[in-house]
Order: sequence, then structure tokens, then C-alpha cells
Amino acid sequence: MKKITLLIPCYNEEASLPALYDRMTQVIGGMPQYEWQLLLVNDGSTDGTLSVLADLRARDPRVCYIDLSRNFGKESAMLAGFDHASGDAVVVMDADLQHPPEVIGQLLEGWEEGYDDVYARRESRGREPLLRRWLSLAYYHLLQHSTRLNVLPNVGDFRLLDRKCIDALKGLRERARNTKGLYAWIGFKKKEITFVQGDRKEGKSSFNIWRLLKLAMDGITSFTTAPLRIATLLGLIVSLGAFFYMCYVLVKTLIMGDPVAGFPTLIVAILFLSGVQLLSIGIIGEYLGRVFIETKERPVYLIREKQGV
Ligand code: UDP
Ligand code: MG
Repeated sequence: MKKITLLIPCYNEEASLPALYDRMTQVIGGMPQYEWQLLLVNDGSTDGTLSVLADLRARDPRVCYIDLSRNFGKESAMLAGFDHASGDAVVVMDADLQHPPEVIGQLLEGWEEGYDDVYARRESRGREPLLRRWLSLAYYHLLQHSTRLNVLPNVGDFRLLDRKCIDALKGLRERARNTKGLYAWIGFKKKEITFVQGDRKEGKSSFNIWRLLKLAMDGITSFTTAPLRIATLLGLIVSLGAFFYMCYVLVKTLIMGDPVAGFPTLIVAILFLSGVQLLSIGIIGEYLGRVFIETKERPVYLIREKQGV
């Protein structure tokens, strides 16, 4: 019998978990041809998530959980799940019921057709601030045009991954993780299905704009070095501009005998150049900082307790 792991990272989800468990058991009850593992990763929740998980485990032996030693972030929690999933395929989903368990059947159909990575694209983005939507679309645009990776907008972590993909992802142990980019990087045979994303029922989203920006920076810096070329490009443009301006000033002074009034031009030039330099140093710093973090080779996550894995 083929085994399917449902992998769910949880951070302060005590209010969502009972409803999630109910809906999920209903769905998997309709598919007795598979053996199921419900693998929940408690990502250092500060509420009662862990005791809810322990309760569920006491009731149902298909439930397994990993308790991380602190909050490592969703990306790291998912790697912990990949490391401990024992299924022939793994379905990754959110705990807040924004990813409807009813779609799992469709994901499995794609898998049975022979696809390795069946991902669910949301048809509508649900309720969301306009700025967040724009930034998100701009980010995908940038990533798609500066890399050869097809990182798709409106596609998240809700997907089914074959064992081949899980083993590939387990090999990618980088600390500044952007799993969405990694799914694109590993390749394999992909299939798209669509679903309607619901709104979060309980609790609140833990991804504010800063956390999303950090994730986006991690995505850009781990998949493309194009921003580093910006410094070179800006340097070239500024030098060329300065050269032509020099010619102009020279001609003006020699032929027309017009003395150059210095201060405004000088201050503008200095400020502009300082800005360009700081920007370039900042971009280099972003990459250097990540090199620093990677060279320490710390583990991506630490486990406090495991049950059933
Ligand atoms: N999550 C996590 N660790 C974190 C933040 C979030 O494991 O540090 C989990 C969370 O419990 C949920 C999923 O990641 O299952 C998505 O989080 P959320 O709903 O807050 O994000 P959004 O849907 O707003 O992108
Ligand atoms: Mg959510």
C-alpha cells in the first residue's frame, strides 16, 4: 500500500488544529487505498499547540509530531518535516485551513498520472492588502526575469511531492531558505491544479510585510546574482555621464569664457555618487551576510521532542 504523508507546519495554531484534524480525517477516510501519516511540526509555538498535538496523537496513531526547540520559521519547519516524512509522497499544507483538505484527492490523481510535483495554484488571492499583492507580483517578475527558474506567482507550498523530490529537497540544506524557489530549482515533472483559497479562520497570519520582504530577499539572493551587476552597471552609467559633463564644462569655459558656478553641481554630484556607492555596498553586504551565515554551518533546526517518527 502506498503511504502518503500530510506535512503541516504549525505556529500558534491551537485554535485551527481541531477543525483541521476533523476535515482532514474526513477526507482521508474516503481514500482507504492509501496508508496515511499526519506529520505536524510545532515550530516553537507559544500557545497550547503542543498539547493539542499530544491529544491528537493519543487519539489517533496516524498523527506524528516534531516539536522544534524554538521558532525557526516556516521554511525550516518544512525541512524538518521533509527529513522525517516516511511517505512515498508528501502533501504540504498550512494549518489554518486556507488550503482545503478536499483538494488532496486531485493532487493524488496528478501523482498517480505520473507527475512528481503536483502544485496547487490559488485562483483568487483572498483578502489581502494591495501593497502586499503588488510587491509580491513585482518579486516574481524580478525572479523570473533574472533567473531561468520558473517561480510562479499564486503558487505556494500547497503541493504534493514525490519521494524523489523530497530526497532532492533534503539535500538542499541552505539556511537562508526560500522553499518556493527550491521547488522550481529541483525541477522534475510538474503539474498544476487550481484551488480557491479560503480566509484564515482562527488566529492570525504570522507573515507581516517585513517577514515577507526578508523572504523575498532570501529568494533573490539565493537564486540570482543579478543585483551584484547593478553596481557595475551604475558605475558605468555614472562614469560615462561624468565624462560627457566634463567635456561640456571644458568647452563652455574655453570657448565662451564662462566661469562655472560650482556649488550646486558639486553637491548634487557628491550626493548622487554617495547614494550609488551606499546602494552598491548594501547589495554586496546582503550577499556577504548570507555567505557569513552559511559558513557557520549551523543546523537549520533543532528538535526538542519527536513522537511517532
Ligand atoms: N508557520 C510556521 N512557522 C512560522 C510561521 C508560520 O510553521 O514561523 C506556519 C503556520 O502555522 C501555517 C503556515 O506556516 O500553518 C502559514 O502561515 P500563515 O497562515 O501565518 O501565513 P500566510 O497564510 O498568511 O502566508
Ligand atoms: Mg495562512
